[in-house]
Amino acid sequence: VDEITGYIDDHTERGLTLLERLCRQPSISAQGVGLGEMAELVSDALTEYGVQAQILPAEKGPPLVYGEIAGESPHTLLLYSHYDVQPVEPLEEWTSPPFEPTRRDGKLYARGVSDNKGDLAVRLEAIAALRAVRGALPISVKFLVEGEEESGSPNFTPAVQKYADLLSADFCLTEGGHPSPDGRPGLGLGVKGLLYVELSATGAQIDTHSANAAVVPSPSWRLVEALASLRDGDGRVLLDGFYEAVRPLTTEEEEALRAMPDDSQELRESLGLDAFLDDLEGYAWRERLLTAPTCNICGLDAGYQGPGLKTVLPASAKAKMDFRLVPDQTPEEVLGAMRAHLDRAGYEDVEIEPIAAHERPVRTSLDDPWVRTAAEALEAYYGQAPTFTINSAGTWSMYTIVDALTESVFSTPGGPGYSGSRVHAPDEHIRMDDFGEAVKVTAFLLNHFGQQS
Ligand SMILES: [Zn+2]
Repeated sequence: VDEITGYIDDHTERGLTLLERLCRQPSISAQGVGLGEMAELVSDALTEYGVQAQILPAEKGPPLVYGEIAGESPHTLLLYSHYDVQPVEPLEEWTSPPFEPTRRDGKLYARGVSDNKGDLAVRLEAIAALRAVRGALPISVKFLVEGEEESGSPNFTPAVQKYADLLSADFCLTEGGHPSPDGRPGLGLGVKGLLYVELSATGAQIDTHSANAAVVPSPSWRLVEALASLRDGDGRVLLDGFYEAVRPLTTEEEEALRAMPDDSQELRESLGLDAFLDDLEGYAWRERLLTAPTCNICGLDAGYQGPGLKTVLPASAKAKMDFRLVPDQTPEEVLGAMRAHLDRAGYEDVEIEPIAAHERPVRTSLDDPWVRTAAEALEAYYGQAPTFTINSAGTWSMYTIVDALTESVFSTPGGPGYSGSRVHAPDEHIRMDDFGEAVKVTAFLLNHFGQQS
């Protein structure tokens, strides 16, 4: 392992140069910019590092990039990452142009340098180090690099299903994380699911003078009354069966939650809040954040909202809503329960239209053998036991991999970023010293995975 560390130290510049090359190519999925070119570039990079690469066209959306390289163990690890990036606006807030990678004060600045092109460069360098020093990879590795993650991966599920035979693996690492500021490593085991809908109420066929409010039905009132019927005064969601599908935490999962640091105050202060709901903090805050399903109103729209007044009775009202779901809720069941609830409550006329793909929640088992192996390796590497995030509060289409490829899906440290990397924001960057560290932990993990029989 010391020899591997030495090799990595000697080759950091090669990895950073690769990363700069990847970051020079714009690849903004939200704007459809540069995705085909980026897929080619990723495929070329894989090939240069001895990985057999293929561009896999999708029915819709940008292609997947696939790669494979054989190793000594009978097992195969799938490495997921994405080659698209977030839009770069506002441009004037960048110190150097987003697609001109720039080194300043030990940092490397560019859009995508941390999220998520850095992962690919780190993983390729880890593979190069292991092959150079050991003569072979300890475990077979497959790469799955998608091009629409930053736009919610709308075409990811059918594409992965189409190529499931090629992509199949024993377990999958998602985007790499990084240790907490105090150096503690973490494993991420899942995500919440998502149901996104638009509700609409309509009345007269045209907007009318509000003098007619005495006799004309109001879609705005109709909609807010329907919305109000979805929750009780304590915020509990009143859809039939909504909480029945919620899988209780195991003792081990509860312990994992208790072992996490309390960073509730950091978020509270960053939001300028005096208190969270119900004065939550510590374990109770963490438990609520990660295990409570939500029913949120994202936007409300009806009638006149400009300056001054306009006495109008609008013809329609709309609301956008998201439900963050936890295992084992499904978007389909919640959508069905919502329709049934509104019908029963007398709101048959309020329409529900799902927007975007339904996303199921995932919580990989703490007992999963690959999770255990990763935890052992991280404890050995960092000298302290990792924390386990049983699932994040956010959503990602992890269920696609669980359904089509393998149930053992999780994240480990191995991304080159840190908490200050400004991902999605102007001046995205990594600390260049972190790059080599990320390569080292990735190589250490691959070695450890290879020893697992
Ligand atoms: Zn991102």
